[in-house]
Amino acid sequence: MSILIDLRSVIDEGVGASSTIKGNTASVDTKDSDLVNLELGAIHFCCTAPIEYEISFINAGECIQASGKAHADLSTACVRCLRDFDFGLDASLEETYFFKPSEDEHGEPYPLIDESEKVDIEPLLREALLVEAPFAPIHDVDCQGLCVKCGKDLNEDDCDCGNEPDDSHPFAQLKDLVQ
Ligand SMILES: [Zn+2]
Ligand SMILES: [Zn+2]
Repeated sequence: MSILIDLRSVIDEGVGASSTIKGNTASVDTKDSDLVNLELGAIHFCCTAPIEYEISFINAGECIQASGKAHADLSTACVRCLRDFDFGLDASLEETYFFKPSEDEHGEPYPLIDESEKVDIEPLLREALLVEAPFAPIHDVDCQGLCVKCGKDLNEDDCDCGNEPDDSHPFAQLKDLVQ
């Protein structure tokens, strides 16, 4: 899976030339793409709409510098109450594409411009969105979660199990820490 952007005009026009590309992933067959299903540790995010992006490419001589922004509509499960919910995510995009293999200060290879003067922005989109994605998604900041004793969704109603977790429960001490 790749999303190829043709940089021929920016390359042909020489140093200083720039081009801004606006698009989305609607025309791309993303069925098997990592962009439809983003994994962040144990958290799973599903894209519910095409990812929108706007990227400027600037010819810097030995490399092409890209900067821009992306927006994704995602669905995931609340870590407190487990219900699925939708949310929007904005990410800023920064990347440098080289004609020849090159490494950054950490020894990581920069992405390459291929022989047909195209670059693949799929890894850029995926990594930028994962940087912004929440580690512990919550459907609402006031989510009451599930009763640790009976499992009832406390957003819907108070439970009648007594609600106070007994001290033998593994999460009983956690409750004191949070308060
Ligand atoms: Zn929730
Ligand atoms: Zn309960």
